[in-house]
Amino acid sequence: MFSVLKNLFSGESGLERVMPAVRGQVVVNAPLNKMTWLGVGGPAEILFTPADQDDLEFFLANQPNAPLTVIGGGSNLLIRDGGIPGVVVHLGKPFDTLKIDGDKIICSTGVKNMEISKAAMEAGLSGFEFLCGIPGTLGGSIRMNAGAHGRSTSDIVEELSAFDIIGKKIVLQKNEIPFDYRTNALPDNWIFTEAVLKGTPENKENIQKRMTEYRQIREKAQPIGARTAGSIFKNPIGLKAWQLIEKAGCRGLKQGGAMISEKHCNFFINTGKATAQDFETLGETVQKRVFETSGIMLEWEVRRVGVKTKRFSSFGGR
Ligand SMILES: Cc1cc2nc3c(=O)[nH]c(=O)nc-3n(C[C@H](O)[C@H](O)[C@H](O)COP(=O)(O)OP(=O)(O)OC[C@H]3O[C@@H](n4cnc5c(N)ncnc54)[C@H](O)[C@@H]3O)c2cc1C
Repeated sequence: MFSVLKNLFSGESGLERVMPAVRGQVVVNAPLNKMTWLGVGGPAEILFTPADQDDLEFFLANQPNAPLTVIGGGSNLLIRDGGIPGVVVHLGKPFDTLKIDGDKIICSTGVKNMEISKAAMEAGLSGFEFLCGIPGTLGGSIRMNAGAHGRSTSDIVEELSAFDIIGKKIVLQKNEIPFDYRTNALPDNWIFTEAVLKGTPENKENIQKRMTEYRQIREKAQPIGARTAGSIFKNPIGLKAWQLIEKAGCRGLKQGGAMISEKHCNFFINTGKATAQDFETLGETVQKRVFETSGIMLEWEVRRVGVKTKRFSSFGGR
């Protein structure tokens, strides 16, 4: 039995007080594999889907220092086979609101990137086209500083609202958000809830044309329809990770049910029965071979979270 279950009922952890008091959904030992694009990984010790912002704030302010992980669209996550200890927070329907206000979009972080680019196009706002082919949610894209076609999420975010680990609300302006290439240095346990995005008014047809072009480029270069997590490794400065992987002779390489795409060397595919360990081992093999051939150590872009074998620990009190 997971430690938290024991603790919930024996009154040892503090979660026994807070979890029954939240209004959102709480699932113990919740499978997560279907919530990720790679389709692998073990369960969450507790999966919490808050009813709304107040519920999330209440939970954070009262939770007894349990490890916290946020999951958005799961398109950039490799969840290890032992699952994720502690509480996994998923922002569902209540965090799926979007409002256009002049050249701004006020958007909750559970909104899908594709919906943002579509709503912006319909409102005649450009600057969001790059999001049309990036799966996942605004929250994940702000964390990852997701980007394509020469633009990144940092280009569109004007203001960001978040909760820290103790439920304090923080509002940051554009110049206060430490965006970097495919990352953001804000603390990993902050939960982003809403952002104000800014675009530029432009003719709807032009925007739509660009979105179509971007989709076509993607269809040509990427294994669309396969279970992947996008680029596994970051591009080293001035170089392309896929070229280094190809040069190391890794195109099509397999490990268990995980395979490097024949079409795009920086995409790993779940061929059916892959485990998270298959993906991690394959990634480590690639890192080793690329280092041997190019002297460069590739850095994971995909976020690896959780434990390899299930050994969830007890939570201490605050
Ligand atoms: C087919 C495919 C193509 C892709 N193409 C691109 C591309 O062109 N460019 C690119 O940059 N990426 C690309 N990706 C990767 C991925 O889509 C992006 O990184 C996306 O922004 C991740 O969003 P998500 O909601 O799925 O985040 P998740 O995968 O759920 O999480 C990613 C990280 O964000 C954190 N996070 C999620 N929500 C929140 C929140 N509300 N508050 C705080 N932290 C949060 C998670 O804890 C985790 O650390 C691609 C992926 C796939 C599968």
